[in-house]
Amino acid sequence: MSILTVENLSVRYGAVRAVTEASLHVDEAELVVIVGANGAGKSSLLRAVSGLVKSAGGSVAFAGRTVTTAPAEKRVRAGLCLVPEGRHIFGRMTVLENLQIATWGSPHKLRGELDRIYGLFPVLAERAGQVAATLSGGEQQMLAISRALVRHPRLLVLDEPSMGLAPLVVKQMFELIAEVNAQGTSVLLVEQNARMALSIAHRGYLMETGSLSGGGSAADMADDESLHAAYFGRSSP
Ligand code: ATP
Repeated sequence: MSILTVENLSVRYGAVRAVTEASLHVDEAELVVIVGANGAGKSSLLRAVSGLVKSAGGSVAFAGRTVTTAPAEKRVRAGLCLVPEGRHIFGRMTVLENLQIATWGSPHKLRGELDRIYGLFPVLAERAGQVAATLSGGEQQMLAISRALVRHPRLLVLDEPSMGLAPLVVKQMFELIAEVNAQGTSVLLVEQNARMALSIAHRGYLMETGSLSGGGSAADMADDESLHAAYFGRSSP
């Protein structure tokens, strides 16, 4: 069963057509990736799915309900949580305060989630009292993901989680995302790091100049020669 169904979704910024009639779905417990180059429209698509920008056409259904015009907050409450590009954590607050704020002032909710979060990201337990701005890039990304996870999302939407991270940390980040998914959370992941993202995904889409294509198995996409040339870099086999 689909947790997210997007049909013919378009996003415009004035005269700029960022997304043109994109359709995709994410099934329960699936990990789906959208790969594509800079400026292809990936973030715009995620923002429209999350309710942060208005769509210029098309529809979004989440957990069986149409949410195309629902405000972002309502989508979050329904379990659709976006971790935006650039992390957006509160740098002057501690790790724990960042998590507390994410539960919107319900300490009992946080207590229930902290064990799971700290189990996934033990380093955050060690850094609980540390000011977030002083965390490493990888730790900040873990905190950003944790801020969504404390809401216990049904769908975790991740925009470029590997951005700005060292190669070893990128690998660890993808393993953690796979683990979150293995624990039962559906994931929609946007990534320029196509090779790594496809290695953990079930299915994948390709975004090019606002248009989405594909939707087949991630393994088939990873073997696609034309994708190799454009998105996998020169070290690709
Ligand atoms: P990146 O990986 O570089 O973030 P992306 O695939 O996520 O790229 P978007 O950020 O969605 O792409 O941008 C798609 C297009 O929309 C680009 O041409 C971009 O310049 C344009 N765009 C994005 N945000 C705005 C905005 N607020 N106002 C005007 N144009 C925008």
